Amino acid sequence: MKITPILCRAGTMDNYSYLITDEQSGISAIIDPSESAPIIETCRQQNIQPEYILNTHHHFDHTDSNLELKSLFHARIVGHAADAARIPGIDIGIKEGETFNLGETPAQIISTNGHTIGHILWYFAKDKALFTGDVLFNLCIGGIFEGTIEQMWASLQKIKALPDNVMFYPGHEYTLYGARDALRISNNAPEVIKYLELAQNNLKKGLPAGPYCLKDEKQCNPYLSAQSLVELEQRLGY
Ligand SMILES: [Zn+2]
Repeated sequence: MKITPILCRAGTMDNYSYLITDEQSGISAIIDPSESAPIIETCRQQNIQPEYILNTHHHFDHTDSNLELKSLFHARIVGHAADAARIPGIDIGIKEGETFNLGETPAQIISTNGHTIGHILWYFAKDKALFTGDVLFNLCIGGIFEGTIEQMWASLQKIKALPDNVMFYPGHEYTLYGARDALRISNNAPEVIKYLELAQNNLKKGLPAGPYCLKDEKQCNPYLSAQSLVELEQRLGY
């Protein structure tokens, strides 16, 4: 599977949408279409007409271009069945335990409440790629807006249980923001400093900070590495 990150709402919300293509079939999808212009430009550059739009959750900065791109590309929109009322233009509802096939590339759906109720992760196990929306960012996690901290904890444990060599792709570029707490909480641990150096190198070149593998994230992200719900609460300042 080919994965192209697309920075959207640059300088304000710094969202990442992703263009993903199953190279065997040539079938493509956009994950979380945040802003039309940069996504259309990326599709034109690659001469791709995406067949699907895959949403992680309903927030406007992840679904704002659903309807425009659905109409432009004649794409079908896939999102959490339980959140169908809040996902603009949804065609296919899907839920945890189900598999979505992007051509020859299967994705598992992982339910991750906390940031919102109805948030899902898209896990392409064969390709070792995980799209984490607004649950997991580099060195930080999403705000707990609709769910409880217990739900966020449970969601993080699901991510922690995935293999170390999975690469993850977050919904925003928040690495430098996350680094402040990661450095403070870890007392400037050498692995966090190394993580951050690599991120800064990439960001300076105008690239996304990552992708990072879950092994690095389990080690360096102070919320993913919390050993208990109480520790997560302490680290989040509850
Ligand atoms: Zn969100």
